[in-house]
Amino acid sequence: MIRIKKLVKKYPNGFLALDNIDLHVGKGEFIYLVGPSGAGKSTLLDVIFRSELPTSGDIYIDNFSLNHLKPAQVPYYRRNIGMIFQDYKLLPGRTVYDNVAFALRVMHYPRSRIHRHVSQVLELVGLSEKVNHVTAELSGGEQQRICIARAIVNNPPILLADEPTGSLDPETSWEIMQLLSKINSRQTTVLVATHNKSIVDDIRKRVVVLESGKIVRDKHFGTYDG
Ligand code: ADP
Repeated sequence: MIRIKKLVKKYPNGFLALDNIDLHVGKGEFIYLVGPSGAGKSTLLDVIFRSELPTSGDIYIDNFSLNHLKPAQVPYYRRNIGMIFQDYKLLPGRTVYDNVAFALRVMHYPRSRIHRHVSQVLELVGLSEKVNHVTAELSGGEQQRICIARAIVNNPPILLADEPTGSLDPETSWEIMQLLSKINSRQTTVLVATHNKSIVDDIRKRVVVLESGKIVRDKHFGTYDG
């Protein structure tokens, strides 16, 4: 479903963040991207999300080459991809409902359809009771659930998450990762950049290790260290 070929990303300051990456991700796979800070994990997610352009190489989504994607097509392409950002990027003065409905309103869905989708997804992430709360009033774990709901509300085939447990306590982190596993079990392909060793070791999945922009290990049912 995702094929990454000879992908290179050099930032304008000359820093080589991704150095000839080859990676195949099958439909419905769950992958942890691990590796030290600065290894290129966020950059890889950003290039897949098309918030960064590659310097060379290509990414194919179901045989469609992203090198053929025109700037005007990017919003349509992104409908295939849910992104969970490291810094949440929620609308703080708005309700849970509005935050999740936002993406569908932009797509001009009718109100009844928006209501149905938002209700279903809030049920899935366990936030139905907070639907009218302003997001700034909610805990870190609840805010992360909103981000997940927002990312999957139009049922994209691919979900990318950048350090989704980075600022959460261990128990909440565990709950968030269980939720991502549940979403994956509905055939969504999931890529998670993480430093969370205990989660990677406990909820075993494919582990891809990046170091200095290169893939140095790729193992099914891997652990954080080997
Ligand atoms: P990770 O997510 O593994 O911590 P990143 O992908 O965020 O790594 O960063 C990889 C490297 O690229 C880091 O050294 C970082 O400083 C550099 N980098 C990231 N974004 C930029 C940018 N916009 N301009 C220049 N260098 C960047």
